[in-house]
Amino acid sequence: MDETTAHKRTIHRCAEAHCSWEGVERRPYKEDDRALFRAVSRQVLFSDPDMAGEWRYFEVAPHGFTSLERHQHMHAVMIFRGRGHCLVGHEVKAVETHDLITVPPWTWHQFRATAGEALGFLCLVDAQRDRPQLPSEDDLADLAADPKVAAFLRGQPYS
Ligand code: MN
Repeated sequence: MDETTAHKRTIHRCAEAHCSWEGVERRPYKEDDRALFRAVSRQVLFSDPDMAGEWRYFEVAPHGFTSLERHQHMHAVMIFRGRGHCLVGHEVKAVETHDLITVPPWTWHQFRATAGEALGFLCLVDAQRDRPQLPSEDDLADLAADPKVAAFLRGQPYS
């Protein structure tokens, strides 16, 4: 590829203050009214027709949370700033900067900024991916049957 090809790439995006990058738009988390979430922003760091993956940066403000969802595609996550908790399947984990989290296919997951500070994380996904599934009342009841998971879903994890 060179500059005569139709697809022009930005080679270098400088880091700016507050976990922003030059030319990267900070957007609302989702344009999906179905999902319950609070205080999350999304930045797409890398997305290219010649790559099978996309690399995004999400930031959850203090006491915010991502949507509780599951899907066929996987997530490879690195905590980039702050601390908080995540749910993966029926497991609640306290997470902090530089931790790695794998979200397997069809596994319920949610990230919560539980530590009174912002929780920022990098997330790698397939570029072509299925639409998230949200929990039914039965799914929620099944998850909340575990007291540790129930506490997490109330925003009061004790792990
Ligand atoms: Mn997801």
